[in-house]
Amino acid sequence: MEIRNIVRDRVFQLFQEAKQEVQSKWMNVDNIIFNNQYKVLTAFTSLNISDYHLQGSTGYGYGDLGRENLEKIYANVFGGEDALVRSQIVSGTHAIALGIYACVQSGDKIVSATGTPYDTLLKVIGDNDKPGTLKALGVEYEEIGLKEDGYIDTDAVLNAIDSKTTLILIQRSKGYQWRPSFTIAEIEALINAIKDKYPTINCLVDNCYGEFIEEREPGEVGADLVAGSLIKNPGGGLAPIGGYLVGKSELIKNASYRLTAPGIGRDVGASLGFNQPAFQGLFLAPSVAGSALKGSILTASIFNKLGFEVLPSWDAPRTDIIQAIKLNKPEAMIALCHGLQMASPIDSHVKPEPAFLPGYSDPVIMAGGTFIQGSSIELSADGPLREPYILYIQGGLTLAHIEISILLAVEQLCQQGFITI
Ligand SMILES: *Cc1c(COP(=O)(O)O)cnc(C)c1O
Repeated sequence: MEIRNIVRDRVFQLFQEAKQEVQSKWMNVDNIIFNNQYKVLTAFTSLNISDYHLQGSTGYGYGDLGRENLEKIYANVFGGEDALVRSQIVSGTHAIALGIYACVQSGDKIVSATGTPYDTLLKVIGDNDKPGTLKALGVEYEEIGLKEDGYIDTDAVLNAIDSKTTLILIQRSKGYQWRPSFTIAEIEALINAIKDKYPTINCLVDNCYGEFIEEREPGEVGADLVAGSLIKNPGGGLAPIGGYLVGKSELIKNASYRLTAPGIGRDVGASLGFNQPAFQGLFLAPSVAGSALKGSILTASIFNKLGFEVLPSWDAPRTDIIQAIKLNKPEAMIALCHGLQMASPIDSHVKPEPAFLPGYSDPVIMAGGTFIQGSSIELSADGPLREPYILYIQGGLTLAHIEISILLAVEQLCQQGFITI
């Protein structure tokens, strides 16, 4: 049975119209993939990566040449002097937290330049005095809200900086917020404005979901540290775990002391079976992230045609793979997640239910029938169940799978009465 016989004609027609509409945007994405693939390939060839680099170490993991060269490649690709790329960095939150701890001491102040950070980081900053939080360590925190149009309020950021300030937090992607994601050019302008006046203050960019979506990365426009997750873009769908931190050597050393222990730092940490999928995943990442980007552009076009508010719109500049759709009703969020889950290669028979997750303040609904648990470079959708009921869709290992899933999910929404066409 062909898929066009399973979804109603009007849905299939709309899908084809949307595909026509986005062609020129998809061609731009092909260019970005091409240039980023070259960048990654060159990083591999310049280091003479060989078969033995793909092997893993055990125990302490001393002298792990695979791990060391993987970190050199990341430093090269993401524009830093040095990098930590480890299976022992358990998530994006962990990578970002390590980056923060690398830059602050008791009595210092952090300024978030891009409004409220991603939900899980709020617990790191600490709204109460739980042990180990920045607050409990005596680190002050100030958040600069975005301007009414959703852009960065650079003047307010500069005004918030005082003699105690050692770190500026910058979040590239929107996270669970209805706001634009910040392009590399915008991040560059912000960092330049900060460094002009305060050259010694460190800028840390949360790069989650942004990797390989533009041709430059935050480390190439002045960020002192850049952090992200390997079960998002840079793992290419193959890395089974991991996080990365790229930036200034001194800060990477500090972070490694926090990751393991002072004195041991980066010299330990067995890679086990991690090197091979981490190398191969990074090699695939420009292409995988690029097709996820194409999927997001198409999703924006389709849901716009269906009458929903989407962010960004299909023709807007992009700097991450996230597609937000305002669904207005919790039931519609759940129904769309059900539709996407039914089109997943793994656990297609499972019905997602909203639930509380560690680090989050509202129940979260997630669709993710993924090969790697919780991987969001694989096609997935999630969002906290709070007004105005926005679902964030991202990822997809192949463009055809994203297309099929969106078709089936829209058909679900029609069948359940959330769309009438
Ligand atoms: C995913 C994400 C994180 C980190 O999330 P983990 O689930 O800990 O990997 C941080 N910031 C943003 C913007 C994200 O999208």
